[in-house]
Amino acid sequence: MSHNLFETFARRMHERGDADFITTREGRDYSYADALAMSARLAGALIELGVTPGDRVAVQVDKSPEAILLYLATLRIGAVYLPLNTGYTGDEIRYFLGDAEPALFVCRPAAVEEARTLAAETGCPAVRTLGTAADGSLMEAAAAATPHEAVEPRDENDLAAILYTSGTTGRSKGAMLTHRNLGSNAATLAEAWHFSETDRLIHALPIFHTHGLFVACNVTLMTGASMLFLAKFDADMIVEAMAHGTVLMGVPTFYTRLVADPRLTPEVTARMRLFVSGSAPLTAETHHAFEEKTGHAILERYGMTETNMNISNPYNGARRAGTVGRPLPGVEIRITDRETGREVADGEIGILQVRGPNVFIGYWRMPEKTREELLDDGFFITGDLAMIDEHGYVQIVGRDKDLVISGGFNVYPREVEEVIDEHAGVVESAVIGLPHPDLGEGVAAVVVPKPGASLDEAEVLGHLEGRLARYKQPRRVFFIDSLPRNTMGKVQKNQLRQQFQDTYQ
Ligand code: ATP
Ligand code: MG
Repeated sequence: MSHNLFETFARRMHERGDADFITTREGRDYSYADALAMSARLAGALIELGVTPGDRVAVQVDKSPEAILLYLATLRIGAVYLPLNTGYTGDEIRYFLGDAEPALFVCRPAAVEEARTLAAETGCPAVRTLGTAADGSLMEAAAAATPHEAVEPRDENDLAAILYTSGTTGRSKGAMLTHRNLGSNAATLAEAWHFSETDRLIHALPIFHTHGLFVACNVTLMTGASMLFLAKFDADMIVEAMAHGTVLMGVPTFYTRLVADPRLTPEVTARMRLFVSGSAPLTAETHHAFEEKTGHAILERYGMTETNMNISNPYNGARRAGTVGRPLPGVEIRITDRETGREVADGEIGILQVRGPNVFIGYWRMPEKTREELLDDGFFITGDLAMIDEHGYVQIVGRDKDLVISGGFNVYPREVEEVIDEHAGVVESAVIGLPHPDLGEGVAAVVVPKPGASLDEAEVLGHLEGRLARYKQPRRVFFIDSLPRNTMGKVQKNQLRQQFQDTYQ
C-alpha cells in the first residue's frame, strides 16, 4: 500500500471505473471514474486559487457528494482537509479560521457574506462556495479549470487532515492526522469488517466528523464499495434504503429510533450484512431489542477524532452488548490507574490509553496539550475510563471528566444510568456530579420520563433502593423532556451540569 492516501484511493478508483461511488436520492450520482475526473478538475481550481501543498482548506458545507470530491482534490494536491461542523456559528468559525489559518475557506451559499467578513478578519485569502451551478462557486471554477492529473508526492507523516474534536469536554482541539494514520486505519477496518466492492453503505451521518468522513468514506474508497448519501438520519429513508444497502454505520440514536419503528422486521433488514454503532455508548437494551427484531447483532466499536478506530467487536464471533470488543490489529491498549498511572489488572477500571499507526501526531498549535496527552512511548491518553472484562472485551465505563467523586467514593455515571433506565417509565437518563458543600460532588440524575408515565423523584429513588449501593444513589432527580445531544448523539453533560449547578448550594 502506498503511503500517499490519494494514490491508494486512486488505484482503486481507476479499477472501479464506471461503478457507483456515491449516489443520492436526488440523482446527483458519481461513478468512480466521474469522481476521479472531478477530483482532478477541482484540484486545478484549488491550484488556481493559490492553494499549495501543506495549506489547509477549511470547509463548512452541507452534506453532498461534491464535498467528498473536494476532500479528494485536497489530498491530490497535497493540501490538508479541514472540515468544520455545520452547526458552528460566526464566533466559532472566527476562532477556527484564526487557529488553522487556511488558504481557502469553502462555505455555504447562504453564509458567503459572513464568511467573507470572517475571512478578512482572520487573514484568510480566499472564500468560495462549493455549489453545483454557474454561481461563481468552486464547482463552476472546476468545470472551467485545467484538470490537474498529477498527484503531489507526500510522506507518510505529512498531514492529510486536521479534524477538530467534538468539544464535548471543553474547547475543540485540532487533531493532526497523517496519510499513514488515515490509510492504515482504513485498511485495517476494511479487513476487520469484511468490506468489498459489492458493499453499499447507507450513509446518514454528517461528513464533518471522523465517523462519517474517515471511517465511512475512507473504507469505501479503500475497497471500491459504494455509498448511498442521505442528508441525515430519517427512519423512512433508512427503511427504504435497506432494500438496496448492505451496511449501516450509525450512532446509538439511529438504533433507538429504528427499534421503536414498527417497520423494523427481519424481512426489511434481510439484504443487510452489517450494522455498526459508535461515537457514543449503545445501551444493552437497544442492542438486544435490535437483535430480537431483526436477527442482527449490532457491531459496536470505539474510536475518536485523535485515533480513528481503535477497538471493535468481531465480525465473526460474539458481539457482546455493552462492550466495544477487542483492539483492532496493530492497535495496542493499556488501562492505567487514575492516580498512579500504573497499569491495572483486568476487571479494574482505569484510564484507557492507545498506541498504533492510527494515533494522531498531536494537536494543532497546542504543544503543551499534546505533551500532556501523547506520551513519550507513543501511547495516547484517551480520557475515557474503561475495563477489560472476563471475555477480554473492553467496556467503556465513561469519560474521566464525567466521573463523580462523592465523599471520596468513585461513582461511574453509566452504571447508575443503566439501572435507572431499567425502570419501565424511563426513556433515558444522564447522571452527573454537582458541587456539594460536604461531599465535594453530589450525584444527581436527569431523567426523561416516558409519555404518560407518572414518575416522580421518590419513585425513581425507590427503584434504585437495593439495586445500587447508597453512595451511588442520586440525592436529587430532575425531569426533562429530552437530553441535550449533539449531532453525533453525544449527551452534552456540561450543559446539564450548568443547568443544575446550584442544586446543593
Ligand atoms: P472532546 O474531545 O472535544 O471533548 P469528543 O471526545 O466527544 O470531544 P470525539 O472525538 O468526536 O470528540 O469523540 C470521541 C469520544 O466519543 C470517545 O473518547 C468516547 O468518549 C466516545 N465514544 C466513541 N465511541 C464510543 C462507544 N462505542 N462507547 C462509548 N463512548 C464512545
Ligand atoms: Mg475527546
